[in-house]
Amino acid sequence: MLTKMASIFDVEWVDAKLKVGHVVLFVAAVCVSLIAISIWGVFNSLEYHLHDKETEMSNLSKTLSSSISATLTQADTVILGVKQRLEAEGPDPENIKNLGEMLKVQQKHLPQIHGFFIYDENGRWLLNSNGPIPAGANNSDRDYFIYHRDHTDAASFIGPAIHSRSTNDWIITVSRRINHPDGSFAGVTIATIYLKYFLGLYDDIDIGENGAITLASSSGRIVVRKPFNESDVGTDISSGQAFALLTPGVNSGTAIIKSFIDSVERVTSFHRIDGYPLVVIAAFEKDEVLADWRSESLASLVISSVLLMVLSFLGYRLITLMSQQIQVQKELQLAQKTYIEANKALGLLALEDGLTGLSNRRQFDFFLETETSRIKRRSDNVALIMIDVDLFKKYNDHYGHVQGDECLKSVSAIIRNNVTRTGDLAARYGGEEFAIILPDTDYVGAFLIAERIRTELEKSAIPHSESPMGVVTISVGISSLSGSKTETPENLIDVADKALYIAKSSGRNRTVISN
Ligand code: GH3
Ligand code: MG
Ligand code: MG
Repeated sequence: MLTKMASIFDVEWVDAKLKVGHVVLFVAAVCVSLIAISIWGVFNSLEYHLHDKETEMSNLSKTLSSSISATLTQADTVILGVKQRLEAEGPDPENIKNLGEMLKVQQKHLPQIHGFFIYDENGRWLLNSNGPIPAGANNSDRDYFIYHRDHTDAASFIGPAIHSRSTNDWIITVSRRINHPDGSFAGVTIATIYLKYFLGLYDDIDIGENGAITLASSSGRIVVRKPFNESDVGTDISSGQAFALLTPGVNSGTAIIKSFIDSVERVTSFHRIDGYPLVVIAAFEKDEVLADWRSESLASLVISSVLLMVLSFLGYRLITLMSQQIQVQKELQLAQKTYIEANKALGLLALEDGLTGLSNRRQFDFFLETETSRIKRRSDNVALIMIDVDLFKKYNDHYGHVQGDECLKSVSAIIRNNVTRTGDLAARYGGEEFAIILPDTDYVGAFLIAERIRTELEKSAIPHSESPMGVVTISVGISSLSGSKTETPENLIDVADKALYIAKSSGRNRTVISN
């Protein structure tokens, strides 16, 4: 029984520990998930920021390329008209004068135009839309002049930014070759566009603290770059990373690359300008994108950390509370176990009947066992008196159970008074049954004691209106044993019981000795 109980406690203890284990696992899983989600969120946000900036730069380079294309086309259309007229009508002074009038009108409508010019095959100025021709002016040394002199193609040429010889402004040139009727070189017509017009286009655009917008020729020379730096003009960036991506057939693209000019890493987008050998490159510093991302991530990480701390704290509290509860439960169970064990030990120790104060049945059995075995060893006598209260059920029914208990106490008091010899044992055998073991006593001695008890009770005259005797009486059966090797305690009781039965059936209130 005890081992069984112990094992039940052990199972419960293991169960409780398992539950705590599950809670620890659950809390840990929630915390790990939160950390994983936060880290994933941070990296996802980096991707998002970079991708967002790539889209922005791509849109910007596309918009700028259309706008620059439109600006150049306006200028180019005018000089194409000049070229065609000169080739058809020749450069006679009257014709040049009329052209000059026409170009002045055009220039008024085109705010980006710095001026229109015509040079002859030796670079001498034939026309200046801004005013009189400076004495001895010659532009045969200019890139565009050399280009058209050496190339017969009819396409327009976009030169790098230069200082105007007439006004000293920074300008960009769009030029075309003029041919003699035989196709030989007759000179150049040119439109110059204010550089500040291009830079002005860039002014309203947010490219961050350290962004850059570059207009370059398809061959990789810088026409103009914002932030503007004179020394950048004409710089060959064809060996840079942007131009490595600008392979023939590729018109646009986006990448994170290092600038050829300042080695800064930027989210860069390039776009070829439709109809012109030019490329726009818009770039936003990667570190600036990362700075935005960092401050955003920091905020989200702070929130996640606070959440994690709260969660860990709550989890920790829950686990400690559970552990404490389990500990208390374990202590309670241990106390209960000890209590049950103590109770059992006490039960073993209790040899007295609670109601009557006589020995109880356990003590009686033990005593009888020892006595019978002692008799067997020493060939001595032992007598057993079995007493049963007469018609006690009726007594209870009539007087009530409490009164019945009192009656049993009175009967046991009389028994106790008459069983005084050391070695004798009077016990409550069952409900209203009593038994007396009398060592070294024969039938006669036992009968005398039994009769003394019976008559004394009768004389005490406890009223019993339901009994024909009118008072409480007892019936008694006696058995005895004298050195017989075969007798057992069960035998002795059995024989006394039979005698008691005879006493009952022959009228009650009497003592019968078994023969
Ligand atoms: P008989 O003369 O044949 O022995 O009749 P009886 O009524 O005594 O016989 P029975 O054994 O049927 O009834 C015994 C009654 O004793 C029944 C039970 O209610 C009562 N009794 C047993 N133990 C106690 C006890 O501790 N207190 C009280 N008040 N009554 C008890
Ligand atoms: Mg009985
Ligand atoms: Mg009885």
